[in-house]
Amino acid sequence: MSTGSTLLSSVSGPNTSRQGGFAEPSPSALLLLGQGRDLASERGVECVGDLPAPSDPDLVERARVARAALGERAFVLGHHYQRDEVIDFADVTGDSFKLAREAAARPEAEFILFCGVHFMAESADILTSDAQQVVLPDLAAGCSMADMAAIDQVEDAWDVLEEVGIADSTIPVTYMNSSAAIKAFTGRHGGTVCTSSNAEVALRWAFDQVGGLDGTGKVLFLPDQHLGRNTAVLKLAMSLDDCVVFDPRKPNGGLTDAELRDARMILWRGHCSVHGRFSAKNVSDMRAAVPEVNVLVHPECKHEVVTAADFVGSTEYIIKMLDAAEPGSSWAIGTELNLVRRVARAHPDKQVHYLDSTVCFCSTMNRIDLPHLVWAMESLVAGRVVNRIVVDADDAHWARVALDQMLALPGI
Ligand code: SF4
Repeated sequence: MSTGSTLLSSVSGPNTSRQGGFAEPSPSALLLLGQGRDLASERGVECVGDLPAPSDPDLVERARVARAALGERAFVLGHHYQRDEVIDFADVTGDSFKLAREAAARPEAEFILFCGVHFMAESADILTSDAQQVVLPDLAAGCSMADMAAIDQVEDAWDVLEEVGIADSTIPVTYMNSSAAIKAFTGRHGGTVCTSSNAEVALRWAFDQVGGLDGTGKVLFLPDQHLGRNTAVLKLAMSLDDCVVFDPRKPNGGLTDAELRDARMILWRGHCSVHGRFSAKNVSDMRAAVPEVNVLVHPECKHEVVTAADFVGSTEYIIKMLDAAEPGSSWAIGTELNLVRRVARAHPDKQVHYLDSTVCFCSTMNRIDLPHLVWAMESLVAGRVVNRIVVDADDAHWARVALDQMLALPGI
C-alpha cells in the first residue's frame, strides 16, 4: 500500500452529457431530464446562456467578478457533497442543518445562493426573513430520498394509522432530508425534524411525548428507513423486530394491523440512493485488502453496513474523525464521493479509501456546477433573480414549528 491519501476506486467525473439520439420512450418509461419531454420539470437543467466548461479559466474569472460585484448582498452556501469548483466559491461549507442555520444568521444578505439540493434551499427559505431571497442555481438539483415521501402518500399513511387506532400514540419525526410539505406535516402533528447528528436526541424526545421508551407509543420516521432503524437499534437499544417498514405503494403500507400496533418504529420506505449502495461485502473486501483499516460510514447506510463498520456518524462527525486521526492510520469512508475526495486531500499523512469500488457521486448534488453558479450570480448582478425557492406560507409556518422543535431539543 502506498503512503499518503489514496482512493482505492478509480474515479472519474459524473457523466453530465445530455446528447440527443435517444429512442422515443414508451409511455411507461421514465422521463429523461434534459431531453425536452417534460418542460415543466426541466427548468434549470440546461444552463441558460453561452457558458464555457467549468474548467475554463474565463469562467472561473467570471465567477470571481460576479461574486465580487455581489459582495455582502449575497451569501453563498456549499454543502459538503458539492463539486470542488463550486465549493471554491462558498462562503461557508457544512451539512444541511449547519447551512440552514448559517443562512438564518446572515439577515444582511439579500440573496442566499444555496449550492446544495432543493429541500435544503427550502429550509433556508423557511429560516430566513421575507426580505431575503434563496436561489438554487439548478432547479434539477433534487434529492431522491426526499422525493420518496410525497405529502399525499404521507397523509394517506396517517389515515391508515388513524383507522388502526394508533395515530394518537404516534409522533412523526422527519429527517432534514425531506420536503417542506413533509416538515409541515410533522409540525402539524406535534413532531420534530432531526438530522443525522441529533437523531438519537430527537427520537428520545419523541418517545417521551407518547409514554417513554418503555411504553407502547410509536414514532413514524420519515423518509429514511436506514437512519431511523440504525438510531433505534444502535442508540435506543430497540430490536429489529420493533421496527416495521411502511411501503406507501402497498395497501396498509404492506403491513397487518397487528404489525402496526406492535411496532415502536414505523419506518418510511425511503433511502438515500448514494448511501444505500454500500454493502457489507464492501466492508469485508476492504478489511481483506487493508487489514488495519478503520471503517467509517454515514448512518444513512444499511443496517448491515453500519453494524460491520467501526464508526458511524454524520458528515461533520466524519470530518472531525479524520481531523483527529493518527498520522499513518488507514480509513475507509462510506459517504458521498466529493466529500471523501476532499477529506483525502486534506489528510495526505493518512490513507483514505473509498468504501465502494463502483464509486458514487450524488448525481443531484452534482447538478450544481460552476456554469450554473456563474449564471445565477451574473443574473443577480444584472438585477434578475433566477431559480428562487419560495415555500408556501402555510407550509412554511408549520415546517418552522417542526424545525423550532428540533432547535429546542437538548444539546442542539
Ligand atoms: S446524498 Fe442522498 S440524501 Fe443526500 S442529496 Fe444525495 S440522494 Fe439526497
